Amino acid sequence: QVSQALKSIARNQHIKSYIQQSNELYPLLLKAAKRFVTGENKQDGIEIAKELISKGYFISLEYIGENTAELEDCIKVKEEFLNLIEKMGSMSMKQTVSLDLSHIGLSLNPDIAYKHLLEIAEKANQYGITLMISMEESSKTDDILDIYKKATKQYPNVGITLQAHLYRSSDDIKELIYYPGRIRVVKGAYEESAEISIARSEELTERYLSLVDTLVAANHPVSIATHDEVIIQELLHRKHAQQPNVEFEMLYGIRSDLIWDLKEKGYQTKVYLTYGKEWYLYLCHRLAEYPPNIYTAISDIVQP
Ligand code: FAD
Repeated sequence: QVSQALKSIARNQHIKSYIQQSNELYPLLLKAAKRFVTGENKQDGIEIAKELISKGYFISLEYIGENTAELEDCIKVKEEFLNLIEKMGSMSMKQTVSLDLSHIGLSLNPDIAYKHLLEIAEKANQYGITLMISMEESSKTDDILDIYKKATKQYPNVGITLQAHLYRSSDDIKELIYYPGRIRVVKGAYEESAEISIARSEELTERYLSLVDTLVAANHPVSIATHDEVIIQELLHRKHAQQPNVEFEMLYGIRSDLIWDLKEKGYQTKVYLTYGKEWYLYLCHRLAEYPPNIYTAISDIVQP
């Protein structure tokens, strides 16, 4: 219930604009968000990326946002991604950029998102950068997968995220395996109905493991994107992480002890970084998926 409330708060435009206009609340919440978000500008993301790369991690960088409603804004977002990639390229940062297709036009029209994606993928390709498409609510899954399939045929540096909690993913993977892009397996962050999805449970753990098994057996590039120690231990036991195409990926600010440990043991590890003014939505997601974070956020806020 706490999670559901937080997810509705995150998308409530009145609350959002109230916070954005409040001189008191805005800086306090930004302080709490800084645990999970690098900052509001790309330079913040680049600085932390450089630091993590120097410690031996790979990184994935996202300019946060989703559901852009105006074409003009979608174009600005696309430009921001192009600038980010140029900046990374100029520093020879051959890493990963992540994006939501609804940030660059999917909410208006799939063709707009596809056109923008191709421009971004072309630029990423020039610099040896991988582009990962995030997965959004189930109402968008078909469109996202269609766009991914068309794009990755042309640009194999484009990868896709697959949500283990959706029943359909066990079928989707059978087809996705024939496309070249990296597949990032996540449990799923969105609230979905019980008819189409599995809640956090042993059954979900089994589904997650089975998706990774399928990808590893096919020697397909895979990112194991979870903070779940049970899953990670089991995959280590199955020796999947020893494959060259397999990496562990975790969100910045979450279980940094665990990803450090994996890196020290010699496994390929990637940290998912975000930046942007839409940090509020991202913060709410992180609090919703793990409510003890609410206490951490409060203590971040009250600390001088
Ligand atoms: P959980 O069962 O949720 O958590 C396992 C344990 O991890 C918890 O007990 C806790 O110890 C720790 N933990 C988990 N979350 C938190 C947190 N917020 N704060 C502190 N500790 C925590 N979801 C999508 O729907 N679409 C995407 O495109 C997407 N991309 C992602 C990319 C990456 C790299 C990662 C790591 C996640 C992504 N997610 C995405 C989110 C994902 O679906 C889950 O919501 C999130 O990873 C939490 O699930 P979990 O696998 O860690 O397991």
